Amino acid sequence: MIEAPPESSGYDINVFEDNKNVVRENIEVCSSIDVNPLHPKCVAIKLTAIIPAQIVKDLTNCIGEKEIITPEMVYDLSKAFDSGDTDYLANKFSLNQEQLKRIAEFIPNINWLGKLCESENVSLFVDAEFTQYQPGVRLITLALMHIFNKEKYTFWNTYQCYLKKTEEHVHMDTKLIQDVGVRWAGKIVRGAYMQYEREKALKNKVEDPVHDDYDSTSDAYDRVAEYLLKGVAEGKDWRFILATHNETSLLKACSTYSSLSIQKNVYFGQIAGMGEALSCGLAQTGFPVYKLVPTGTVDEVLPWLSRRMAENSHMMAGAQRDRIMIQQEIKRRILKN
Ligand SMILES: Cc1cc2nc3c(=O)[nH]c(=O)nc-3n(C[C@H](O)[C@H](O)[C@H](O)COP(=O)(O)OP(=O)(O)OC[C@H]3O[C@@H](n4cnc5c(N)ncnc54)[C@H](O)[C@@H]3O)c2cc1C
Repeated sequence: MIEAPPESSGYDINVFEDNKNVVRENIEVCSSIDVNPLHPKCVAIKLTAIIPAQIVKDLTNCIGEKEIITPEMVYDLSKAFDSGDTDYLANKFSLNQEQLKRIAEFIPNINWLGKLCESENVSLFVDAEFTQYQPGVRLITLALMHIFNKEKYTFWNTYQCYLKKTEEHVHMDTKLIQDVGVRWAGKIVRGAYMQYEREKALKNKVEDPVHDDYDSTSDAYDRVAEYLLKGVAEGKDWRFILATHNETSLLKACSTYSSLSIQKNVYFGQIAGMGEALSCGLAQTGFPVYKLVPTGTVDEVLPWLSRRMAENSHMMAGAQRDRIMIQQEIKRRILKN
């Protein structure tokens, strides 16, 4: 799984074009890798690398505080993407002329991404972002699923279980996508922006969107995993990856995976260089594991990695154990020879 780190918060067309080149390169490299054909080739990106954050913010505002996305919204947005005609957004979205013009200007970037992934046979993980953008990102990805996930699992939404509303969203989206007759795919994470979300809620004097404590986030994560594992075992058209370094969640999920005799459509993922002992243990036991590899220059990748290390509080506490296990393995290999 390759991550294209670029992101952009502004409105500079040249930046989006540069980012598209990076994304294209990553998709083409990923496509050329020889892997077991049963397992998807995956690239992860932030949507705001190729379209202005303002577009996802505008769509977020249309969805409203309750964050309910209806099948009609998904149909209308996918028709607008497919045709390039923003008139389809007239009924369900309250957008002014300037906002519609901005969407129309960037529809080609969205279609370009979908067609490229489809032709290169690459699955695209759309990263989850801050809550002021995430409902819009979620809606755009559902519309892309409606267009591109008819035969394959091309577009994957990301669900942040630290948010109080996420469990409900997973239930809503899996049902919605099933009802519109395409395939649902998801990346399940705990969530990366806790501190920022808490500070923003405090500043704006609104309810904190993040669960009150770590255990509530973990319980939500494990319930979402259980719900999805059961759905896949029942034969639902779902595919998902549990992206976590948390050993307890992984052990619980693996135990359910084995007891339900799941054979396909469920994956486990960790960031390259983090949770190595966990990934190796999972792989050796026969579970399908992905490592997320950020690409780019050292200057681009190091800040990204250091942010990820800061988030991974519990995994970093286990880093010492990883080091000991790696040392033991080196010794074992040297003594063996
Ligand atoms: C392959 C991969 C892809 C990822 N993609 C994304 C993405 O697209 N978007 C995104 O936001 N994140 C993403 N992440 C990061 C992820 O959301 C987590 O921040 C990170 O993995 C740490 O969580 P954990 O489950 O691995 O482990 P842990 O160390 O067990 O959990 C730490 C996490 O628990 C939560 N937490 C900690 N303290 C509290 C508290 N007091 N109250 C409530 N919750 C708390 C926070 O979410 C924190 O990040 C990704 C991670 C991986 C491995």
